[in-house]
Amino acid sequence: MHEIDNSLILVVDNSQLFRAMLCDFLQSKGYTVCEASSAKEAIDVFEREQPKMVLLGAVMPEIDGINSLDACRRIREMDLDEYSPILIITSTDDDALISAAFDAGAADYINKPIRWALLEHRIKFKLQEARAAYALLASEERFRQLFDDSPLPYQSMDDHGRIVDVNSAWLEMMGMELPDIMGKSFGDTMPEDQWRKFMHMFPSFIKQGKLTNLQLTVRDKHGDELIVELNGRVAYDIDGDFKQTHCVLQNITKRKAMEDELQRLATTDSLTGLANRRAFFAEADRARLQCLRYGHPYTVMMLDIDHFKAINDTFGHDVGDEVLKLVSAEMQQQIRDVDLLGRLGGEEFAIALPETNLETAIIVAERVRVAVEAFSLQTEQGDVTFTISIGVTPLSDAEESNEQLIKQADELLYQAKHNGRNRIESGAGHTSA
Ligand code: GH3
Ligand code: MG
Ligand code: MG
Repeated sequence: MHEIDNSLILVVDNSQLFRAMLCDFLQSKGYTVCEASSAKEAIDVFEREQPKMVLLGAVMPEIDGINSLDACRRIREMDLDEYSPILIITSTDDDALISAAFDAGAADYINKPIRWALLEHRIKFKLQEARAAYALLASEERFRQLFDDSPLPYQSMDDHGRIVDVNSAWLEMMGMELPDIMGKSFGDTMPEDQWRKFMHMFPSFIKQGKLTNLQLTVRDKHGDELIVELNGRVAYDIDGDFKQTHCVLQNITKRKAMEDELQRLATTDSLTGLANRRAFFAEADRARLQCLRYGHPYTVMMLDIDHFKAINDTFGHDVGDEVLKLVSAEMQQQIRDVDLLGRLGGEEFAIALPETNLETAIIVAERVRVAVEAFSLQTEQGDVTFTISIGVTPLSDAEESNEQLIKQADELLYQAKHNGRNRIESGAGHTSA
């Protein structure tokens, strides 16, 4: 079952008989028709009736100096939004005339005498083609509208990453005007390392036709940095070749800052600013595995402030807090950047030392012990001094977890307390030294 196409077709010829033949034929196929008897009249009828197709006699007497080619040109000019194909009807194989008609905007030509069976297919095909072209135009138009009106920033790029289009939301986000960016490289809006990051995945974006959740730091007109998340698609032309990329850029600067802050809150001890228990174990696990992989030594220590309860009791909780902060800062001072320091509980701390054997770790522990011992905090009730005890244990078995190591160090720490405090006990393995 094929659908009846009742599109309106304009038939133009000076011969009334020929027009009547054409019209009868078209109507018998379900089309509706309108007529004009000259090129001049064809222009008027086209404008008034807006037909979907024109069958135009190639050679007709001119009226007011207007011939068929003029009519072709005029109709093409009027017919900008939609596309109504013009089929020229010739009685000779006059190549010059036919090619002039194509130049004037004709879509095809038909020879007289008409081969009616072929004409039917010719018309059907040309109308389908016109509809497809119109549908594409309309979808591009719709896309354009979406693009312009979207509250999300959009940009289109060519295959070199040059900006060929942006919408107003994009301009607003970047604080720019159209001339600031059109034709420029997307790379001009970002630090070099970000552009390298983008260019690294650009080829696969083009190849796969899709880009998902790429985070980049870009700079707005004033040089202020924004974090954006890119999602994109490749647009292809009618032949299936790359046309351009369309990307939506979501400004996630605030979201990112919030996530970072939440992450910080979740991993940091608020009093001392050190890694909390969970974050310490997470980071220490990475460090331990890294050392294992390369066969490097790895050592942990547990540190606990001596008689801390007495400090609280004598000087008050606030002074106690102050001591915790001071001791934290001092310990941080005494270790390397790659060492990991965390507050595991009240006045208990742990340090993980990658690439460090027991011997070296004991030297570090001693340095920390001496530094803390030398410290004094001035308060209204007098100077507060304090000491710490430390247990140090190295990774001696690939199977040992950080939890086991810390437990071992804690046992050594307990011994240090037992043996008089302000001292270090160390040892390897599961047997306490
Ligand atoms: P030891 O030498 O055996 O380690 O004795 P200690 O008094 O240091 O140990 P204990 O475990 O008996 O007491 C620890 C105290 O630390 C008890 C607790 O009130 C206090 N504490 C825990 N967290 C905080 C904190 O955040 N601030 C303050 N000021 N005190 C804290
Ligand atoms: Mg203590
Ligand atoms: Mg304790």
